[in-house]
This record gives sequence, C-alpha cells and structure tokens, in this order.
Amino acid sequence: MTKKNLCPRCGSKKMKWHDPQLGIWECGSCGYRGSVVVEDSSVQKKVKEAKKMERLSWKRQLK
Ligand SMILES: [Zn+2]
Repeated sequence: MTKKNLCPRCGSKKMKWHDPQLGIWECGSCGYRGSVVVEDSSVQKKVKEAKKMERLSWKRQLK
C-alpha cells in the first residue's frame, strides 16, 4: 500500500518537494507550501475544515 500525500488546503495530489532538507512541500495546484501534508483517507474532512476556517477569517477581515 502506498501513501499519497495530498495538499491540506485544496486536496490536490500534485504535491512535490519544495525543500526536502527542511521537509517543505509545495502544492502544484494552489501554491501551498508547508511541512504539513495529509494522507488520502483524512483529506476530505481536513479540506472541509480548512475551507470553513478560511470563510470565518474572511468575515473577520471584512469587518
Ligand atoms: Zn493545494
């Protein structure tokens, strides 16, 4: 069984190493960079949560 690394922001599978020495990943789809990647099974939940958080912070910024 192989694990697939997915973007925690958009759920894309286009994750590639940005800096392997620092353990930084880069998403080829949304441009996300970070050490956090998610595995297949949990990604949908996390993406939903992230979108929820994004919406909340948007509202705060607009005020
Ligand atoms: Zn992404």
